[in-house]
Amino acid sequence: MRWFSTVTQYLLPLLCMVCENPQAKIVCHACRKRIAINRSQIGPSCAVCALPIKPHQSICTQCEEERPAFDRVVYLDLYQEPLRHPLHLLKYQKRLACASGFALLWNIFHQHTLKTCDADVLIPVPLSPKKLAARGFNQVWEIAKQFDLPKSIRLIPNLVICQETHTAQAGLNRAERTASMHERFALNGGGASVIRGQHILIIDDVMTTGSTIHSLAATLKQSGAKQVSAWTIFRTPPWKS
Ligand SMILES: [Zn+2]
Ligand SMILES: [Zn+2]
Repeated sequence: MRWFSTVTQYLLPLLCMVCENPQAKIVCHACRKRIAINRSQIGPSCAVCALPIKPHQSICTQCEEERPAFDRVVYLDLYQEPLRHPLHLLKYQKRLACASGFALLWNIFHQHTLKTCDADVLIPVPLSPKKLAARGFNQVWEIAKQFDLPKSIRLIPNLVICQETHTAQAGLNRAERTASMHERFALNGGGASVIRGQHILIIDDVMTTGSTIHSLAATLKQSGAKQVSAWTIFRTPPWKS
């Protein structure tokens, strides 16, 4: 059926999710180039949390002082345009094609990360039941399931559940936020036997303070996970948060 997709590609062009011009692919060549340039301007980053570091460092001061529960973070771009807008389209206007766009960019720019990934299980950061009901889908899962991953990795969308918290997150400082999030994640029934001794890969869309990934990783490690990595579409450096 290759001829069919080739024909429809020209009959029904997509809009590039970034520049919104008609294109055969969800992200056009010019926009891919622009994103490549943005990525090339990112300096050295911490081997653990991916925040910017000075050239002589390999790990940032914060991680050196207190290691987070996760072992490594990889991201696509800083939380900036031109990609911030398509993420909003995906999350708030349910433009699901943008999930394919982010997966495509990850598959292009993170070929090596994908090929060498030795995780056993992939999980998306879960949404609270309320948010999931309102949105109708978990945007992170929609992206993650389109990654060109090694076949050996098990993709499990509901290994962890996100409980409703009664504490509003806004207005809390980092420590308070982490503490309140700690009770937020719980393994689904039977989850512990799946993760014991395994390398778990968490997928997220925007990582800012890192407290969500930290508390999710802490829950996983307390239940026996050997290693926890995180891939996030965007990393927000502290000066932009
Ligand atoms: Zn474009
Ligand atoms: Zn760090």
